[in-house]
Amino acid sequence: MTLTKKPESRPAPSSWGLASGENPWQYAPAPEATDHIRIEPEYGLFIGNQFAPSKPRKTFTVINPATEEPLAKVAHASRADVHRAVGAAREAHRSSWSKLPGRERAKYLYRIARILQERGREFAVVESMNSGKPIKESRDVDVPLAAAHFFYYAGWADKLEYAFPNRDPRSLGVAAQVIPWNFPILMLAWKIAPALAAGNTVVLKPASTTPLTAYLFADVVRQADLPPGVVNIITGPGEIGMALVTHPDVSKVAFTGSTAVGKMIARALAGSGKKVTLELGGKAANIVFDDAPLDQAIEGIVNGIYFNQGEVCCAGSRLFVQESVYEPLIDKLKARLGTLRVGDPLDKNTDIGAINSAGQLAKVQELVESGIAEGAEIFQPDCELPTRGFFFRPTLFTGVSQSHRIAQEEIFGPVLSVLTFRTPDEAIEKANNTPYGLSAGVWTEKGSRIFKMVSAMRAGVVWANTFNRFDPTSPFGGYKESGYGREGGIHGLGAYLDLSGGNGR
Ligand code: NDP
Repeated sequence: MTLTKKPESRPAPSSWGLASGENPWQYAPAPEATDHIRIEPEYGLFIGNQFAPSKPRKTFTVINPATEEPLAKVAHASRADVHRAVGAAREAHRSSWSKLPGRERAKYLYRIARILQERGREFAVVESMNSGKPIKESRDVDVPLAAAHFFYYAGWADKLEYAFPNRDPRSLGVAAQVIPWNFPILMLAWKIAPALAAGNTVVLKPASTTPLTAYLFADVVRQADLPPGVVNIITGPGEIGMALVTHPDVSKVAFTGSTAVGKMIARALAGSGKKVTLELGGKAANIVFDDAPLDQAIEGIVNGIYFNQGEVCCAGSRLFVQESVYEPLIDKLKARLGTLRVGDPLDKNTDIGAINSAGQLAKVQELVESGIAEGAEIFQPDCELPTRGFFFRPTLFTGVSQSHRIAQEEIFGPVLSVLTFRTPDEAIEKANNTPYGLSAGVWTEKGSRIFKMVSAMRAGVVWANTFNRFDPTSPFGGYKESGYGREGGIHGLGAYLDLSGGNGR
């Protein structure tokens, strides 16, 4: 059992008019320029609109996962720093932010949104260098969506009374926000935009591997002239995240990350009275019926699992194919996998960039090896991987059974497990046979079948004839071990407000 053997080579589809095995496309390198960005050698904590070293002064190094080269040093916060950051946020809430009329808060949010747009290229390049995601994704998805979240919630800031009539909506106070490494600037926007619109102040802790766009955002906060202390950003390991969310002066906690850490936070906060939103892992079913437009479904399947190297909580990592179309679909899928370009995240033609860290790559490899050991059949296209950095080939497993670890556990990598079904009821039963419930997809021509599937699947988001589509107006969140609470839309706004008042207060 080895993953280093030469993978099966991909025959070119006959429609290209090429001999079998001939590579149809040769792209010249198209690297995005990096001369317009500036990464500081060292970043301090951002508290009260000032960057300052941690106390005692301690740092850790952040690397580029595509090259393994260091990018910058960032401050390693102490518990005393957490206390300072929460204190700054609390004071800003008391003295300025909660007193501002909604229309004034909205002006700041619009300003942030516009600056994010203006500096979009810079954010996209830094995001790709720090996270490993392809530039075409950070440029076309992450950064524009982050700006869209600020625009959207800016629109609500002066309309809270209309959003929640007769509820006398009030801000909660200080929001503690802990975010992961797979969508650093987008998760920051999902968390900070609704919090500020609702009149809260925030302390945000990015993941230790991907803090750079959060510190770039700190610069935007100053550029937008936000009052000091409204947005504070601190970096440090998981225990600093725990110290932050359990701080007694924090009123609201929002966490996105692994189910294991989500459970620890839920246990630590039980009975504390803090309002909590947890957005955790997933193992989404993507279900293809025999009447689905297969070519369109192939694109949805590829986007569902290989987007962002599969490091997506709502990735369509379990593909259920109706038996009658299994063979043509798998043939098309294997051919399509062979066209994916793996490599330099800064190359505009790259489809699959670097895995975020050596640890995450090891986790993906371990789960892939378990799939082989448990008897599933592996397919990987014959593509060259860069010699440095954390890269993994797009991978497809067939012959997977429900009990295999690759069908049960979140892999968080470019690995798809394919299973089959005969009837819609069997598909529903298999799709729901998971501890998670974040997202799902269904591909069929029949509207009535879409409605049946959407109602029967225990998943917070179900996409029909598409996958991985996000919009600030649409709530996102899970059932079961995928967490609770919703982010996005009016639901995500309500999560940052005290709505217990109104007529009954
Ligand atoms: P974690 O849940 O450990 O990390 C997410 C965030 O939580 C990071 O900011 C992390 O900080 C912080 N954190 C870690 N431990 C604690 C703690 N005890 N208390 C408070 N905050 C904490 O995810 P990993 O990075 O370890 O990834 C592990 C697995 O989790 C992945 O393989 C994937 O399956 C899943 N995952 C799911 C995500 C999702 O969006 N649903 C996102 C990321 C991972 P630090 O970076 O300093 O450790």
